[in-house]
Amino acid sequence: MEPLIKIENLSLVYDKGKPNETKALADINAEIYPSEFIIFFGPSGCGKSTLLYVIAAMQTPTSGRILVEGLPISQMKDTDVTKYRQNSIGMVFQQYNLIPSLSVIDNVAIPQTFKSVSRSERTVKAQKLLDRFGIGAFSKRLTTELSGGQQQRVSIARSLINDTPIILADEPTGNLDSKSSQNVLDILQELNEKDKKAVILVTHDPNQLQYAHRVFHMKDGKLIRQTMNPQRPQRIDPQTREKITKSFSGISSAIVDILSVYPELTESRLKSKAIVNYLMSELDTTQIDRLERLVEDRILGKISKDDFHGMLDDPMEKGGAGLNYQTSKKIGDSIEALLAETDVIQKDIEASDEKPTAIDDAVGEIRSQLSDALTSALSEEQSTRLSDLIKRHLTGAVDKAGFFKEIDTSFSHGGVGLRKEIAEDLTRRMEILLIKFKDFTE
Ligand code: ADP
Ligand code: MG
Repeated sequence: MEPLIKIENLSLVYDKGKPNETKALADINAEIYPSEFIIFFGPSGCGKSTLLYVIAAMQTPTSGRILVEGLPISQMKDTDVTKYRQNSIGMVFQQYNLIPSLSVIDNVAIPQTFKSVSRSERTVKAQKLLDRFGIGAFSKRLTTELSGGQQQRVSIARSLINDTPIILADEPTGNLDSKSSQNVLDILQELNEKDKKAVILVTHDPNQLQYAHRVFHMKDGKLIRQTMNPQRPQRIDPQTREKITKSFSGISSAIVDILSVYPELTESRLKSKAIVNYLMSELDTTQIDRLERLVEDRILGKISKDDFHGMLDDPMEKGGAGLNYQTSKKIGDSIEALLAETDVIQKDIEASDEKPTAIDDAVGEIRSQLSDALTSALSEEQSTRLSDLIKRHLTGAVDKAGFFKEIDTSFSHGGVGLRKEIAEDLTRRMEILLIKFKDFTE
């Protein structure tokens, strides 16, 4: 499956070299496929708008590139950029960006005037769009006479007039009341479902995540995670899906995947299998097996870092993994990094001398990791119940089955009140997290 948008090693620094230099985007890599509904999600200032504007060719990256339908847009000439925007991009902004001196219908038709479409033709088109969004009767009015929700619908109509495959929306509900917000989101969903537009929505509101096929989680200019929405059938084919999961998911989700295949494995074997699978897909099975055992020995501390590095490129006959120097170096470094990653949280907890606070930290950390796996936010009371449950599972007061049951149990019956599939998923993740936090269970 060919990506519609391919983002490669993209970085953007504002005011480079000045005291107020800001790294707005840092080495972003991602792919967006035709007809996907994607959300860029993250706190204010994390770089969502900047990323959207680079896709719209309204900002030039400092390094890296973006290919849209195979064309590198940041290296295009100005005339080509204009053509690109006309033919590929429709934009919706938080502030609507309508021209107050023009009528509603002229605002909608503006993008067509630059394409030398005849006045009558573009007016007919604009009116059709206004009719579609229930504001046809206002076409002759000035935009300032309309409510916020109506103005945003005008701007959505404008984003559609050139019939481009991509709609970019930057916090389009930021200035709207909840009813108008709902209306705008429903329209975006319809454009995605019916018109097959690729929609990229920027938001910091977790309640909107349910609209997306996939969510790109951003923090400090980085793309820290991609998640797929289990509630929406994915637009990408299984192979592409696997590719994305592989390229992106960190070691924890690799462990989750492995655990579902080999539920009986011991922790260290599980970890080593996950790490090896995560790193290698081209070795033969004996090599993988050898590598797994070496990694396991390393995890258990049976061999030192240096010995481990040496054994990776020792030949198979000598008990090594038989890798070439470069591969073994790469694997060795990655494994040390991954081991550090899985140990960090444990170290943090060990560093704290008071066990009660440490356990509460662990509970908080686990709850936040589990909540991150959800596509919609928990209510405060659901969160409290989940924390309490995590604590009881950590201390051994409830077992895995009990943990699942309480998540699955309806809210009114004292449970967390999540759907069965979600309860299963959270339970699976919890078992993985228990490995990380196992100090509390022993
Ligand atoms: P978000 O949309 O997630 O709130 P932005 O992409 O607007 O984030 O901003 C990312 C970072 O870049 C922030 O620190 C912001 O202050 C900074 N920034 C955004 N636009 C500019 C600009 N035009 N000049 C300088 N810094 C900017
Ligand atoms: Mg923004």
